[in-house]
Amino acid sequence: MADSSEGVAMKISGQLTVDDLPRVCPLLCRQTNPGYGGDQTRVVEVGGVRFGNGSPVVIAGPCAVESHEQTLAVARAVKHAGADMLRGGAYKPRTSPHDFQGMGVEGLCILRIAREETGLPIVTEVMDTRLVEQVAQYADMLQIGSRNMQNYPLLAEVGHAGKPVLLKRGMAASLGEWLGAAEYIAKQGNLNIVLCERGIKAFAAGEYSRYVLDLNVIPAVLANTFLPVIVDPSHATGIASMVEPASRAALEFGSHGLLIEVADFATGRPRCDADQAIDGKTLARIVKFAHHRHEQLLFAQRAA
Ligand code: PEP
Ligand code: MN
Repeated sequence: MADSSEGVAMKISGQLTVDDLPRVCPLLCRQTNPGYGGDQTRVVEVGGVRFGNGSPVVIAGPCAVESHEQTLAVARAVKHAGADMLRGGAYKPRTSPHDFQGMGVEGLCILRIAREETGLPIVTEVMDTRLVEQVAQYADMLQIGSRNMQNYPLLAEVGHAGKPVLLKRGMAASLGEWLGAAEYIAKQGNLNIVLCERGIKAFAAGEYSRYVLDLNVIPAVLANTFLPVIVDPSHATGIASMVEPASRAALEFGSHGLLIEVADFATGRPRCDADQAIDGKTLARIVKFAHHRHEQLLFAQRAA
């Protein structure tokens, strides 16, 4: 009889470790792209905003575009706070088909008006391969949401839409699955990809926060790919009061930026994700922290 202390070396189909990354994502993996050195990041540019060049990028805006008045009010607050880009969903992935699904193309038109007024580049979600071309006509950056991270035809479609892509991590995705998804976009010739950690499902998710913010993944991403990575503290926590400390923590972990939901409560309570929305004043403090932190790092680098 075999000695049980010897154990059994098992290889499980489909299970990935970081050793598999050169095979899973050769276009994006550090090991197979020595040109990026051990620590350089590919700079991804979106309408003059540069991800991965050292200065953190703050993207903020409503969860959903709900009206012209609401979106413009939030866009002005985002601009006033000093953020770099505007977010807002025109097509919303909702748990129930009976919930507000977004304003569709009308929402895209409102985002365009908000960009014209504020000068902020727009990122918005696309969920359907049939709508990639349409959304790409309005957006400066296409967002792939958590629920669609492994929608491979959609990834291929955004890969040749000619726009940078914000790829949110699936809520139960491993690092290998996330980078494998990014590789689908890269395989179409589009390496302008920014990754976004947005909280994962783990045993504590839902008990005292919406998801579990996995900041540990940030250094792992930085070690294994040259793509920039940002953090969404809003969906990760689901609680407005946690968004500011989570943002600071994300930057301390090396995040290249933040994706934050903001509301203008004077124009009404948001129909979508109201409890995680922060106000413009809080956003301004986060932006100030991000800039200050960057300056401190530059100062420390020069002194070293
Ligand atoms: C969003 O950012 O609008 C969103 C729906 O987030 P997620 O896909 O991460 O749930
Ligand atoms: Mn939301």
